[in-house]
Amino acid sequence: MAILGIDLGTTNSLACVWKDGRPELVKNSLGELLTPSVVCLDEEGNLTVGAVAREQLITAPENTAAAFKRWMGTQKTFTLGEKTFTPPELSALVLEKLRRDAEAALGEEVTEAVISVPAYFNDNQRSATKLAAQLAGLKTERIINEPSAAALAYRLASGEEDACLIIFDFGGGTLDVSVVECFENVIEITAIAGDNRLGGNDIDEAIARYFCAYNGIPQNVLSAEQQAMLLRQAERCKCALSWSAMSVMVLPGPDGTTYNLTLTRDLLAKLCEELFGRMKKVLARAIRDSGRGIGEIDHVILVGGSSKLAVLPDFLGSLFGKPPLMLDDPDTIVARGVGICAGIKERKGEIRDIVMTDVCPFTLGTSVVDNDKDQNPHMAVMIERNSVLPISRSDRFYTTRDNQEKIRVDILQGEEYYAKDNLKLGEVVITVPPEPAGKQWVKTTFTYDINGVLQVDVENTSTARKKTAYVVNPSLHLSEEELERKLQELAAIRRELTQSEEEQLLLATAERIFAESTGRLREAVGKVLTAYRGALEDQSPSRRHRARKWMKEQLDTLEKYQDSGVFDPEIPDSWEDDGR
Ligand code: AMP
Repeated sequence: MAILGIDLGTTNSLACVWKDGRPELVKNSLGELLTPSVVCLDEEGNLTVGAVAREQLITAPENTAAAFKRWMGTQKTFTLGEKTFTPPELSALVLEKLRRDAEAALGEEVTEAVISVPAYFNDNQRSATKLAAQLAGLKTERIINEPSAAALAYRLASGEEDACLIIFDFGGGTLDVSVVECFENVIEITAIAGDNRLGGNDIDEAIARYFCAYNGIPQNVLSAEQQAMLLRQAERCKCALSWSAMSVMVLPGPDGTTYNLTLTRDLLAKLCEELFGRMKKVLARAIRDSGRGIGEIDHVILVGGSSKLAVLPDFLGSLFGKPPLMLDDPDTIVARGVGICAGIKERKGEIRDIVMTDVCPFTLGTSVVDNDKDQNPHMAVMIERNSVLPISRSDRFYTTRDNQEKIRVDILQGEEYYAKDNLKLGEVVITVPPEPAGKQWVKTTFTYDINGVLQVDVENTSTARKKTAYVVNPSLHLSEEELERKLQELAAIRRELTQSEEEQLLLATAERIFAESTGRLREAVGKVLTAYRGALEDQSPSRRHRARKWMKEQLDTLEKYQDSGVFDPEIPDSWEDDGR
C-alpha cells in the first residue's frame, strides 16, 4: 500500500508517491497537480474543496475559507454558512480530497501519509497538522520540514550528496530562507529566517502604486473594484515578464479614456529595490546564524510561486556570485521531497534512510535585572534561536536583594529585549537561605529536546534543593483572549509613553537590532540598550540630549557593522557634559 507524501500549502496542496525508484506527483480529480487549499460550504450544505471552492472565494466569500494554515495551532475558528470549523478540521477536508483523488489515480487504498510543514512550525502547529491527518483518515508518523524536503529533492535530482544549500522559499505572502547542510545520509537545517510580510503580493502592490503615480491617479479615487482590478493586472503583467520582455497594463479611466503603463524587466527591478533590500537582510541573518560565510553556500535553490519572478535570478546571482537553481517547477519541489520521504518510510531498498535534524526556531531565556538604572527585567538568553536540537545550556542567577528568600526563574520565549515583551511559558520558584544580596545563587539549565519539549532545572547548591519544570508546547501563538489582553496592555503602555518620538524611535530601532542579532553582538546591543534606557530615567534635558546623540552614533555604527557582527561599544559612566 502506497504512503502518500503531501505538501499541505497555504495556497495550494500537492500529493506525491514513490514509484519505480523516483517521486511521482499525483494528479487530482481535475487532472491538475495543484489543489487549492480552499474550502466552501454553502447554505444548502454543499461542500466543495479545491479549485471550485477557490472560485467561490470571490463569489461567496462568507461561505469560504482559505489560508487557514496560518492559523494552525491557534484557537481561531472559521464560520462557513451555519457551521464553525477549526483550522485542523478545514485542513482535514483538503487532506481528505487529496487522499480520495490519489486513491482514484493510483487504484489503491491510501491510509498513511507523510506531511510537510514549515521549519518554524512549533509543536502545537505540528500536532494540529497530525490531528488534521487523523481526521482525514490518514496515519501520519512522520512530519517533515519543508526545506528538508526541498533539499531531499535537490539531492536526488543532482546526485550531489555533500552540499551547503540555501532553500529560498518565496511565496505569495511570505519569504522563508533556510540554510540546509547535506552530508552522507544527514540533512541538517542549521538556520532559518523569514519575513512573513514579504511576498509576491507586495510586488503587485508596488507595481500598482507606481501605475497610479505614473498616470497621476490619486490612490484614494479608485473604487474597491478598480483597486482589485489594478492589482490583478499588476500580478498578470509581473508574471508575463517571466517569458516576455515587456507587458502592458491598461485600466479604464473616466469618459472612455484609458490609463496605461508598459512594464519592462528594468522597471520591475527598480520597483523591487526596496523588497530586495529586505530580502538581503533575511538572507544575511540566516547565513550569519548558520555560522557559515556567504562564500560557503554551494547553491541557492528556488522554491515557491514568486521565485519565478523574472528579475530574481539577477538579484540573487549578483549577491552570491552564481545564479540560483530552479529545479523544474518551483511549485512542486517540496511535494517531490515529501514523496521521497514517503519512499524512505516505505523502506524501499533503492533509497537509504536519511537522518534529519532540526533547529529551535525561537530564542528561549529568563528575565534578569542587572542595572540599577533600569529596573525593568530584560531577557537573559539561555538558548539562542537557530540552535541545533537537542541542546542544553546552564547559567547562574544571583539574589538581587538582601535577605531574599526566593528566586523566581521565568521561562520566556521570543526575540524582544524586555522580558515583558516576550511570551512567558512558565516559571520555577525556589527557596534560598536569607543572606546579603548576591550571596545566594541558582544553577539554571534549559534543555530543549528534538520533540520540542523544554525542560528547565533550577538548583540551589547550598541547600541541595532542585526543581524542574517541563514546557511541552512552547507556542508562538496566543489565544484570542490572550491576544486581546496583550493588545489592551499595549494600548495602556502607549498612553504611558512620555518620551519624545525621537527617543521612542531610537529605542525601537535598538530593540529591533537586538532581536535581529545573536551572540556577542546581541550582548553588546543589550548593553547599549540598558545604558540608554537608564539615561531616559533622567529628567535633565541636556543629559538626555547627550544620551540621544550618543545613541544615534551607536545605531549608525550598528547599522553599518551589523552584518559583520563586530561591535564593541564604549558605555559612558555618566551623561554629564565632558566636552565631547
Ligand atoms: P505560492 O504561494 O507559492 O503559490 O506563490 C504564489 C505567488 O507566486 C503569487 O504572488 C504569484 O503572483 C507568484 N507568481 C506565480 N508565477 C509567477 C511568475 N511567473 N513571476 C512572478 N511571480 C509569480
